[in-house]
Amino acid sequence: MSESPATGQQSQPAAKPRKFQAIKGVRDLLPAETPLWNHVEETAREVFESFGFGEIRIPIFEPTELFARSIGLDTDVVSKEMYTFADRDESMISLRPEATASICRAYIEHGMQSWPAPVKLYFMGPMFRRERPQKGRYRQFYQIDAEVLGGNDAPGIDAEVIEMIMTFFDRLELKGLELDINSIGCRECRPKYVEILRAELLKVKDQLGPDSQRRIETNPLRVLDSKVESEQAVIATLPRMAAHLCAACAEHFAEVKRQLELRGVIYRENWRLVRGLDYYMRTTFEIIAQGLGSQNAVCGGGRYDGLVELLGGPPTKGIGFAIGEDRLILSLQESGKAPAAPGRDVYVAWMGEKAFATAVRAAKDLRAAGFRVELPATERKFGKALEHADKLGSRFALILGEDEVSSGEWTLKTLADGSQAKYTETDLLAYLREATATPATQSGS
Ligand code: AMP
Repeated sequence: MSESPATGQQSQPAAKPRKFQAIKGVRDLLPAETPLWNHVEETAREVFESFGFGEIRIPIFEPTELFARSIGLDTDVVSKEMYTFADRDESMISLRPEATASICRAYIEHGMQSWPAPVKLYFMGPMFRRERPQKGRYRQFYQIDAEVLGGNDAPGIDAEVIEMIMTFFDRLELKGLELDINSIGCRECRPKYVEILRAELLKVKDQLGPDSQRRIETNPLRVLDSKVESEQAVIATLPRMAAHLCAACAEHFAEVKRQLELRGVIYRENWRLVRGLDYYMRTTFEIIAQGLGSQNAVCGGGRYDGLVELLGGPPTKGIGFAIGEDRLILSLQESGKAPAAPGRDVYVAWMGEKAFATAVRAAKDLRAAGFRVELPATERKFGKALEHADKLGSRFALILGEDEVSSGEWTLKTLADGSQAKYTETDLLAYLREATATPATQSGS
């Protein structure tokens, strides 16, 4: 019991401090995992920049209306999943659930239509959606995203964007991917197809579940991506967009496919791959990865030639995609592709005050030379120090005792085989440079 300084009376026993946990659907990424995340992100930068894309960083939050307008009020993302709050001035703000809307806003805001076209941008970062969490589905998740804005809608742009994604996955050695593509037509041909589809759906209405029945009125295209088992046989008999594309869209789609072949990209045509919103046009695509269970889509994208205009900008061609980084990482982990967590190159084991001064200097020099160095802050007996070095995944232990300091001959122990040798300070650096140029055989842990 403590005494309150103000009253001098005894206060109630302090409540046990609350133990906090991360919010449901939100998680920490720990040092054992982050090397893989960094590897994925560095690879994305390398590959995307090799295709002429530049990085854009967008705000975590935006006016709610930006997402409501671009993603659509009747989508799950906007109607149920956004984290929305009133700011102190009462304006409504949402945490970004995706990147395309913000990137289009930035395109308009910074007058990018006057930049050399097309403008190619990439982005990576966390997104927020209040979904039901499960494996591969989180409330804070990460996307790697790229958009091509402005210029024309040459099929070569669509094909190049898809080639870039496949190059990225290939560089990561992600195997067993399935790329589905489709064309959903344009403002000319799609409305006509949607009416034909609606008429057919009405004929089979009583064979469909409540969601699909509702969509016959609101958004017939969405019936096509229904996963409801009992609807599959009926859906298979419905008319297909490909037969109703206008000549320009049919030609565009044929050329996208020809160019994918030219670029060595293997795809599958999937007539049921659709997008529900009006500004989506022509090319849509999705990539499925192995080992992810039901949440197996790692990338979705498509052409959205009307979006910039919808957000108050000039008529602008656009195509883009979003890769789900969490799922990509899961898939890489499933296939055993995780790089080792960072160990230490050198553990500096020291004993005695004089040795400590030398150890501090040695650690400083080794770090400056680019080595990962652990310098224990308190003295440990050499046996304990070596155990500690081993647990940290160190490759070498530099042993500095009184003898080493006075003789200037430092002992270096290779933890993998226990061998040791003596080096002068200069020789040590040269030896370590050479030894670490070859991949480490991890010792211990
Ligand atoms: P979308 O923006 O909905 O087209 O999603 C693009 C990609 O982001 C999907 O293919 C998934 O890989 C990923 N994704 C979407 N929602 C989530 C989520 N809640 N958790 C993890 N990944 C997600």
